[in-house]
Amino acid sequence: MKKVDYIIVGLGIAGISVCEQLEARGKYFVVYDSGKNTATSVAGGVVNPVVLKRFNPAWKAESFYEKARPFYSVLERKLNVSLVSDIRVRRIFNSAEEQNDWFVAGDSPVLESFLSSEIIQNTNISIIAKHGMGEVLNSFRIDTDLLLKTYREYLERKGCLVSDEFEHSSIVTENGGFELNGYSANRIIFSEGAAVIRNPFFTMDCLIPKKGEYLFIRAPKLKCESILKGPFFMIPLKDDVYQVGATFAHGDFSFETSSEGKQKMLGAIAKMISCDFEVVDQIAGMRPTVKDRRPILGSIENNNMYFLNGLGTRGLLMAPLLSEWLFEHIDTGDPLPKEVEVQRFLN
Ligand SMILES: Cc1cc2nc3c(=O)[nH]c(=O)nc-3n(C[C@H](O)[C@H](O)[C@H](O)COP(=O)(O)OP(=O)(O)OC[C@H]3O[C@@H](n4cnc5c(N)ncnc54)[C@H](O)[C@@H]3O)c2cc1C
Repeated sequence: MKKVDYIIVGLGIAGISVCEQLEARGKYFVVYDSGKNTATSVAGGVVNPVVLKRFNPAWKAESFYEKARPFYSVLERKLNVSLVSDIRVRRIFNSAEEQNDWFVAGDSPVLESFLSSEIIQNTNISIIAKHGMGEVLNSFRIDTDLLLKTYREYLERKGCLVSDEFEHSSIVTENGGFELNGYSANRIIFSEGAAVIRNPFFTMDCLIPKKGEYLFIRAPKLKCESILKGPFFMIPLKDDVYQVGATFAHGDFSFETSSEGKQKMLGAIAKMISCDFEVVDQIAGMRPTVKDRRPILGSIENNNMYFLNGLGTRGLLMAPLLSEWLFEHIDTGDPLPKEVEVQRFLN
């Protein structure tokens, strides 16, 4: 029997953040990850602390941002890869009123460091933006595919990754700890993303998987180096390819791409650019969203089983600080912030 301090289930951005906390604390762990339907690999990778529909700060935007930026820089050095691009996000204004709302929002103390006070006039004939654009300062993009690939390789080299399905029914509880497939551990952390709804130990009816789709288009004449935000994001990749999305499909729990999703994105593209393009790919994934739009942290039954989930639409921004909160709670026994404590859903 191999003894570890923790078993982790799931290696998306939640699981990676958990591993980083454990390494910083010198703990031994093993990670189970099937690599199936990983939302983190589908994500556009945009880390943007502003709600660009209404020009509001995202919940606790500053605190999450302060942890996230250095977290990814540390990972870049550790994995010896380039993960972060300091790419600008430009919000296309639909009207003069929106320009005005942008200025008002930029005067607020939380948003002044994130919203540029200049209106950018559009000089690109392929972009439709007759009311100009506002620029989000300090946003960045993570290459999530590269992050997952290199982090998996890192764990494989350390000998602590099991690339397989974790069978919840195989857990044996022993003296407050757990045994499973030749491992014994004091604690388990479930960071399974939307798949947590199939976890028999997750007895809360609060997580709703929310499907999102992206369309990939090739538009050689667009020549845009910023992320555009119109009805959807349009993210420049390599070789004139742009990633457009993501949709929100309520009540659709399939992982297949849909013609409905494609039509929505084509409609949005027609509002954002005027040049020719061809569709080259379409992908779908499932966001782990929670009824009250806040993440889920902690233990349901105070039984050494913990959850880090509910990262919703901003997992890349929130996971680094959330994982820190979780381990401060585990290490000290201090309560978690009420807004994220999983037991808030207990009747
Ligand atoms: C279309 C789309 C676009 C998005 N764009 C952005 C964006 O631009 N910026 C942003 O910050 N966020 C974005 N998000 C949200 C972000 O992707 C999620 O918040 C985040 O990735 C969730 O991470 P996670 O680690 O909780 O789950 P996941 O990334 O889904 O990871 C969970 C992992 O657990 C594994 N797993 C589950 N159960 C088991 C089991 N029993 N055994 C073994 N392994 C298991 C899964 O295979 C998976 O690898 C987007 C999401 C979607 C769907």
